[in-house]
Amino acid sequence: MTAQKAYDIDIQEKKSDASSDQNSFQELWNSVKSTFPKLFGEATYKSWLAPLAFKEFVGGRFVIAAPTSFMRDWVATNSKKKILGLLQDLHPTILVLDVIVDKDLKIEKQGSSGTAVSSLNTSLADIEVIGSRLEPRYVFDNFVVGQSNELAHAAALRVAESSQVHFNPLFIYGGVGLGKTHLMHSIAWHIKKCHPKRKVVYLSAEKFMYQFIRALRFKDTVSFKEKFRSVDVLMIDDFQFISGKEATQEEFFHTFNALVDQNHQVIISADKSPTDLPGLEERMRSRLGWGLVADIHPTTYELRLGILQSKTEQLKVDVPVSVLEFLAHKISSNIRELEGALNRIVAHSSLVGGIITIESTQQVLRDVLRANDRRVTIEEIQRRVAEHYNIKTSDMHSAKRVRTIARPRQIAMYLSKALTEASLPEIGRKFGGRDHATVMHAVKRVTELMLNDRVIGEDVDLLKKMLQS
Ligand code: ADP
Ligand code: MG
Repeated sequence: MTAQKAYDIDIQEKKSDASSDQNSFQELWNSVKSTFPKLFGEATYKSWLAPLAFKEFVGGRFVIAAPTSFMRDWVATNSKKKILGLLQDLHPTILVLDVIVDKDLKIEKQGSSGTAVSSLNTSLADIEVIGSRLEPRYVFDNFVVGQSNELAHAAALRVAESSQVHFNPLFIYGGVGLGKTHLMHSIAWHIKKCHPKRKVVYLSAEKFMYQFIRALRFKDTVSFKEKFRSVDVLMIDDFQFISGKEATQEEFFHTFNALVDQNHQVIISADKSPTDLPGLEERMRSRLGWGLVADIHPTTYELRLGILQSKTEQLKVDVPVSVLEFLAHKISSNIRELEGALNRIVAHSSLVGGIITIESTQQVLRDVLRANDRRVTIEEIQRRVAEHYNIKTSDMHSAKRVRTIARPRQIAMYLSKALTEASLPEIGRKFGGRDHATVMHAVKRVTELMLNDRVIGEDVDLLKKMLQS
């Protein structure tokens, strides 16, 4: 074994040592269990799996309990292997799954076992052995195309539809929450539907590493290699994870070459381009650039609005356009956050009733909105306000006291207080070293003016909107 390989494994050992306390295994169990309803079907889950509880993890044995011996036997024959697989995927040191009986556990209301068994069979058929489960929502039909993602989308569609290999690999990169995983799953679903004979394997780079480490540990690398080299389409998500993991990288490099040589498609996603990914071997880097490298840019306002509209249609909920516009303006960082915000206001209105308005949205999303607002800087405020009033940005720092300059400066201070997290003294420093009392006075004065002077009120509102969009 090379030193590099030993290094990867070493990381793994440390990880398992650190998490050997039972709490983290309880958490592991909770998160695995939370996937059961989707994975095995609601009915199976309710009848058989919901009552299962974590007991302990000792010496490679992961012990869970069922409330009756009947249920224990059912779980042992029908879902134990699958559950063990899920646990191992997250924690390769788990070797055995034991199901014991604990009569104190509560039994949930029993469903009919007939439906439970049939839904179990259908859902198990979807599960790849070496790949990960695909999210049913992540299909091309649900992917909204805009300027920022049209290249990546077109390339993904091309690869999914064509039975020939046009570019190998397809490398998709972009920031967090911009739709890389959604596109990857869409490709996989599409190929499965249109070319059911082609073997598609999708998994994250992290999972690839875990499987590789497990193969090393169980001296099973031959079958590991065979498994990965026999697929028609290999898709690796979040490739950046492989940076600096030399042994895994090397193994991947060989797999990659073997597949490309056979003209089998490889699709990779990462948060940076091959040229910018740190910790990649040179030969890997250049090989990755051989195919098509497609990037996903940050979203535009129009795309965000389009996504929100498509989401509300999917959710079959009525949200006023003004609220969607407000969200698209305010939450520009990434689509995951945007979706989360929409889900929250919809959930809130269905829980407490009432229609969704901009005010209720502001109330429910206080924290998210504040985090997004924080991205406005004082410098930007000074620049925009100066532009608006046709004065020089340097006047924001100057000692001039004429009204035409002092008033915009006060407004900029007010906006700095309202839109950033900066304290009064910090704001004062950025306005030519004024003290906090001056800033406080400015905030008070502008607040009053906004109530009494319509022009100023509208000006400030407009500036606020511009700065937040
Ligand atoms: P990434 O993998 O780039 O971090 P994801 O693919 O997980 O991002 O996307 C985050 C969320 O945003 C997902 O729920 C996804 O469905 C949604 N999303 C991203 N891009 C789009 C799009 N163009 N149209 C519709 N939904 C999108
Ligand atoms: Mg992703």
